[in-house]
Amino acid sequence: MSLQLYNTLTRTKSEFVPGDPGRVTMYVCGPTVHNFAHIGNARPAVVFDVLARLLRRRYRLVYARNITDVDDKINAAAKAAGLPIGDITAKFSQIYREDMAALGVATPDVEPRATDHVGEMIAMIGKLIASGHAYAAEGHVLFRVGAFAGYGQLSRRGQRELLAGARVEVAPYKESPGDFVLWKPSTPDLPGWDSPWGRGRPGWHIECSAMTERHLGTTIDIHGGGNDLIFPHHENELAQSTCAHGGAPFARWWLHNGFLNVDSTKMSKSLGNVLLVRELLGKAPGEAIRLALLSAHYRQPLDWSEEVLAESRRKLDRLYGTLRDIGGWQGDWSSVDPDAGFVAALEDDLNTPRALAALFDLSRDANRAADPAERRRLAAILRASAEMLGLLGGDIEAWFKDTKGGSLGNDEVERLIEARRAARERRDFAEADRIRQALTDGGILIEDGAGGTRWRRQG
Ligand code: AMP
Ligand code: ZN
Repeated sequence: MSLQLYNTLTRTKSEFVPGDPGRVTMYVCGPTVHNFAHIGNARPAVVFDVLARLLRRRYRLVYARNITDVDDKINAAAKAAGLPIGDITAKFSQIYREDMAALGVATPDVEPRATDHVGEMIAMIGKLIASGHAYAAEGHVLFRVGAFAGYGQLSRRGQRELLAGARVEVAPYKESPGDFVLWKPSTPDLPGWDSPWGRGRPGWHIECSAMTERHLGTTIDIHGGGNDLIFPHHENELAQSTCAHGGAPFARWWLHNGFLNVDSTKMSKSLGNVLLVRELLGKAPGEAIRLALLSAHYRQPLDWSEEVLAESRRKLDRLYGTLRDIGGWQGDWSSVDPDAGFVAALEDDLNTPRALAALFDLSRDANRAADPAERRRLAAILRASAEMLGLLGGDIEAWFKDTKGGSLGNDEVERLIEARRAARERRDFAEADRIRQALTDGGILIEDGAGGTRWRRQG
């Protein structure tokens, strides 16, 4: 089986063939750390985490996801909070790391910060000026779009659309309105670095080109991000890197995730419907949020709603329930191969809906199997497969006792179960039934067995 990936550059799905199978390189545009991450920001982090897991099965991967810590949005956030810029970026980088970890996103191999790479950016801008692809004007340096015949190849826009899409400022120092900023002057109150063009700061696009070159090389295998980045950000990265490297291709595969909407509406501050990862983590387990993010194919839009999240929780109840009921599969599950159909779905351009369906088939087959050894074998395959999606790795009992979003705390549940046991012992069945109803109303399912009463939360 081969790994098939859809490439935005060619608009086709094709077999992924890395430049060097001994060192596969992937760069994903990371967060601009000026605020809490919203659930849309988590989508690329989770999607490319799954791709990284898949690639690591076959290759040695170097995965870089940057942190943009110099940006006008950050300057504005620092000013509004009356705090130094470094405080804002340190705080939100840390929050981003914690939130993504709670969603089961592994830390990338490299997490470069833009402000640690200004030297590389200045060097790349110098090269672009020397080769005629950029020019300095009034403290700015601009990329000369007309000097790169390949401009527009990624977003497939014509000249007119390029201009409309870029919402470019018509500035007197620009040769052409489509030219974009590589370097701009800073006032004393803004972050700035000394450069041949005076004290200033980099434009956003050059940051990613410089960090990619520094950590992954001239031509990389995969470049990813949300599809809002195709233009202008990725188009501009492609132009800068290609021209700075004498025409060498920048990225072989470009992958873009679709957008996440909330209740069929685009998230926006003005509508007040921006869902922060932090808030959601207070209401549901990170694993349920992760599954919800993987429930649609990554290139499709994802319509987020409370129902999608509740459904994901119920799905995990089913899968964890299978693992719990069967038991005894833990022995050496880590040497077990994932299910072939499941892997084939993921290798077909990360078809996570099909891969999830394969997990439910496995779960059903495991439950139906009569032979205990066969049940354990299937449960182990279920666990090994889910691992590739970053699911079912938690403690089983802990999953069923996760109190987030539930109205009864663990201690309260235990207390009620004990009270019900005592009521039954004294044959007060009315009271026992009343307690059982209270537990059901609180979303708690109980099962009486030989070893006593077990309980779990309903999705
Ligand atoms: P930002 O911090 O705004 O640069 O965004 C970080 C990443 O999140 C980028 O890859 C964006 O494309 C992606 N992104 C932002 N909003 C959404 C959304 N609503 N749905 C999916 N991806 C998004
Ligand atoms: Zn980028």
